[in-house]
Amino acid sequence: MRPDILFPLFAPVTSLPGIGPRFAKLFAKLTGEKVVDLCWHRPSGIVDRRLSPKLADAPENAIVTLTVVVGRHRKPASPRLPWKVRCSDETGTIDLVFFNAKEDYLAKTLPEGETRVVSGRVERYGSELQMIHPDHIVKPGEIDRLLRIEPTYPLTAGLTPKLVGRAVQAAVERAPALFEWLDPAFQSRRGWAGWQESLRRLHAPQSLDDLSPEQPERARLAYDELLANQIALALVRLQQKRRTGRRLAGDGSLRGRLVAALPYRLTASQAQAIEEIAGDMAAPAPMVRLLQGDVGSGKTVVALLAMAIAAEAGAQAALLAPTEILARQHFATIDPLARAAGLEIALLTGRDRGKARTGILTGLAEGRLRLAVGTHALLQEDVEFKDLGLAVVDEQHRFGVHQRLLLAEKGQSPDVLVMTATPIPRTLMMTAYGDLETSRLTEKPAGRRPIDTRTLPLERLEEVVGGVERAIRQGARVYWICPLVQESELVDLANAEARAADLKRRLGPRIGLVHGQQKAAERDAAMAGFAAGEIDLLVATTVVEVGVDVPAATVMVIEHAERFGLAQLHQLRGRIGRSDKPSTCLLLYQAPLGETARARLKIMRETDDGFRIAEEDLRLRGAGELLGTRQSGMPEFRLADLAVHGELLAAARDDAKLILDRDPDLAGPRGKALRTLLYLFERDAVVKTLRSG
Ligand code: ADP
Ligand code: MG
Repeated sequence: MRPDILFPLFAPVTSLPGIGPRFAKLFAKLTGEKVVDLCWHRPSGIVDRRLSPKLADAPENAIVTLTVVVGRHRKPASPRLPWKVRCSDETGTIDLVFFNAKEDYLAKTLPEGETRVVSGRVERYGSELQMIHPDHIVKPGEIDRLLRIEPTYPLTAGLTPKLVGRAVQAAVERAPALFEWLDPAFQSRRGWAGWQESLRRLHAPQSLDDLSPEQPERARLAYDELLANQIALALVRLQQKRRTGRRLAGDGSLRGRLVAALPYRLTASQAQAIEEIAGDMAAPAPMVRLLQGDVGSGKTVVALLAMAIAAEAGAQAALLAPTEILARQHFATIDPLARAAGLEIALLTGRDRGKARTGILTGLAEGRLRLAVGTHALLQEDVEFKDLGLAVVDEQHRFGVHQRLLLAEKGQSPDVLVMTATPIPRTLMMTAYGDLETSRLTEKPAGRRPIDTRTLPLERLEEVVGGVERAIRQGARVYWICPLVQESELVDLANAEARAADLKRRLGPRIGLVHGQQKAAERDAAMAGFAAGEIDLLVATTVVEVGVDVPAATVMVIEHAERFGLAQLHQLRGRIGRSDKPSTCLLLYQAPLGETARARLKIMRETDDGFRIAEEDLRLRGAGELLGTRQSGMPEFRLADLAVHGELLAAARDDAKLILDRDPDLAGPRGKALRTLLYLFERDAVVKTLRSG
């Protein structure tokens, strides 16, 4: 149960003064629906209202706070003209100016003959001073509320700065003092205030410097958020380790036959990854291991050998791929090898229906089929395994955490191997998995040639088409990637279709098209034609981004490369350079390039090291955008900025480990404070798994 002390923070924003259901909807969009969400809404600027001169001394175009006597209201002759209220002090006069004025409101807030404090920007209009739409109008007794440096906040349409500022302030006032969860020595070394004090200071910046993410109050709150994240992950890991898994150790017979059937030798890092996986599988605790390897580093065969271990031990194994194309491609790679080793492997995708599907389901339920490859169709409720010992999840960033768990639930705590081709920076990995065991494939299979990457303005498209034509005449196979227009596949498709038609006119009929809106059969046919060399050039939307493997393709053209993220460009480019022939990648951009876009394309030219590209991407774009956080299953942070707070993350990880080593059930006094922290950052589910409490 959430501690009582946090209740005011988790009340809906409508519990704050002046916020009804209509504004609540807008706040839901801007910040979130709860009071605590407003506490996390960080100021983005400041307005200094401390200057409080007499009218004669008021500097033009400055923000000032004035004490004036309200004089005559001058109603405009036409509603299109402004309403003016003449005010004065003993040194001069000023007009307060209102467009679309409401008479009642003005009469009430500015009664003639009374003294009021107004704050806003002073301007000169002809010979008169004026203030258009004062930001604040209060009674003289309330002047202290205005004479300060006021934080300003990001807004959304329909919410005024004043409303948001007040609501956030009210929310922050609700924030209670909480028992300190930080280690006292650590806290004093950092010079951090308590939680409540830090939150207040975050919302009371005194200078532009105070808005920096490196300020101590922001750092403290970011640390709290990261600590909650790391403790939650560590608790999940503890749970996993407490569950009894099983030992899956094979005799190596299937592996031996598979390796013998391979047309190549394993690289050293492939062999090492398989060793590490075998070690985990043979241990009693369930494995959760990440296999990280750049595109083309050869993860599939590692997965297959891991699956063979499960089969040797008498259990089943499943490989889950994010798309139909990939599932089929994995199957096409794995099936002949598995056959050579005497293993039958099933393919299950959304397209399999009726008898064929029933046959596979029975085979899996009875255990006759040991290995399965498939899409999310493998996760459907009626898919049962007799004894699933290993689940491999490929290209994991396409799956949410939820789906990963679903597959794991199909067995009794099966071992889980997560494969990712996106070289996720270490910092991000840590926030999504904590200290997950990781195997990395660091070398490319032997014989690969580096890719020659060039950048060209789109104006040189004609030249590019000419070059592509020559390359095709010399036997090259070419990917042509169409621009990403927006988040809409349909618009992207229109582009791809137009480009394909255009290239057909220029280069003849041996041109194919693949995109996400196609029927799977049509797309497979195009891919197969390209793989077989019946098609020379494949126009594609980003559906070829992940995993597609046609080693003979050696040229890639990417239109409007500046619109793609770095990680995505790297993924796309990884489709070529897969054979012993030299490959070329042409990045066409729309000139002029902005600074960030230029930096990105430069990195693409300089390196094909996926890890370096990922780190640069994080630096250039920030974590949120890196993977499209929502779909990626990566956590989003309100206060922490991983591009800045990487060091805090590492500290939080170490802290979490120490805390749980000493008090795994968070039962001691600091443990109790930490439980409150977990609730504060909405890790309720994890607290519920603790033994006591
Ligand atoms: P990814 O890590 O991108 O999933 P794949 O598993 O698709 O990479 O492998 C890419 C290509 O490299 C495939 O054609 C595969 O057959 C080949 N390959 C894998 N391992 C080796 C190796 N050790 N030596 C040579 N080629 C290999
Ligand atoms: Mg792959």
